[in-house]
Amino acid sequence: MQQAAIKLSQSFPKPRGSSSASLAQTDPQLATLLAQEEERQRLKVRLIASENYVSSAVREAGSSIITNQYSEGYPGARYYEGQQIVDQVERLAIERAKQLFGAEHANVQPHSGSPANLAVYLAFLKPGDTVLGMQLSHGGHLTHGSKASITGKYWNIVSYGLDPQTKRLDYDQIRRLAREHNPKLVIAGHSAYPRQLDFAAFRSIADEVGAILLVDMAHFAGLVAGGAHPSPVPYADVVTTTTHKSLRGPRGAMILCRAEHAAKIDKAVFPGLQGGPHNAITAAIATTLQEALQPEFAAYAAQCVANARALAAGLIDRGFELVTGGTDNHLVLVDLRNKGIGGKPVAAALDRAGLVTNYNAVPWDDHPPQNPSGLRLGSPSMTTRGFREAEFRKVSEWIGRVVDSGLDDEVIAEVASETRALCAVLPMP
Ligand SMILES: *Cc1c(COP(=O)(O)O)cnc(C)c1O
Repeated sequence: MQQAAIKLSQSFPKPRGSSSASLAQTDPQLATLLAQEEERQRLKVRLIASENYVSSAVREAGSSIITNQYSEGYPGARYYEGQQIVDQVERLAIERAKQLFGAEHANVQPHSGSPANLAVYLAFLKPGDTVLGMQLSHGGHLTHGSKASITGKYWNIVSYGLDPQTKRLDYDQIRRLAREHNPKLVIAGHSAYPRQLDFAAFRSIADEVGAILLVDMAHFAGLVAGGAHPSPVPYADVVTTTTHKSLRGPRGAMILCRAEHAAKIDKAVFPGLQGGPHNAITAAIATTLQEALQPEFAAYAAQCVANARALAAGLIDRGFELVTGGTDNHLVLVDLRNKGIGGKPVAAALDRAGLVTNYNAVPWDDHPPQNPSGLRLGSPSMTTRGFREAEFRKVSEWIGRVVDSGLDDEVIAEVASETRALCAVLPMP
């Protein structure tokens, strides 16, 4: 071999500052915490409706070397050189998103679900314009106009809620509010509503008042991808989604829209709201979408719904009251008021029993949000681990034993050893 033409001023035994040593070597304190978190995820029955377990491939892409790259702009129109590869990665994610959801345009850059929604506000509204969205306390999201969110401070929000009898969406009420207030934007979507949405009804309401229809499918995007929930894409002007919930990808988001809105949406995300995209996340989204395009993902989505139904049926058998009396998606909302106990102590006790849930408001909750009357449960995570209906029936039995014991320490300890024993034999990516 020939001598290298360039003479180095010194030999470089290792890179300066950024080393190849492992995390365990450089930062054992953090490495220990991450190992503990892995154990927690392995040994607990995780029932948070918005969580999941991503594949090893998604984790690999999400922590890949492409994170070193800055890429303000869009493929073919960047403000930095060196985009030869990253442009292809982002185009791959975009094409797969369009294919999976049948969308005309996809933006895969929003850093998370809340900024994705904010980008839609920025694209179509001026501050002070009227927005019609679902009330937070009835299952809507903060970014649908809660007073605590920037959306509730900068825009004139009108909220719709549920029917007091059925606890289901009341489309007549939504239509009435739309006619009365003439919103520029109508938002459909939720974080805690256990039923499917009627997108055709939302479309006709938006059309009647000339509003843009945004469907925020953050929670149920995986079900839509797998064909276990109707798709909002044919009905909505814009669809936002997180990528990390039932879609089972990295923490990120996407905006799907009609071609006519593409330029507005892209401009709102960058430079409207963000700088550079998180390229490693874009890579992880690309491979998440490839996974979601496989036939096995349809089976996964169907199993998520079947499992949530089995959980709901088991809870009803144990005397629990469920909001709407059941579920047709991946989540179950338990109203604990007939059990005479608040959501917060129940969630804390269940966590000690190895069942991770979150306390949640129920519609017309007479308790404060810090200790509401509900418990939200979801099937996506444990369906990924391999749970089927029988295991979710078992989960309902465990929850019943803990609650009906009055959160007794001995019962909690018993259930904890059972949940741990079951989880210990389940594979985890
Ligand atoms: C989770 C969620 C979001 C926000 O997602 P973040 O990534 O936490 O910002 C937005 N909308 C709905 C309906 C959600 O459930």
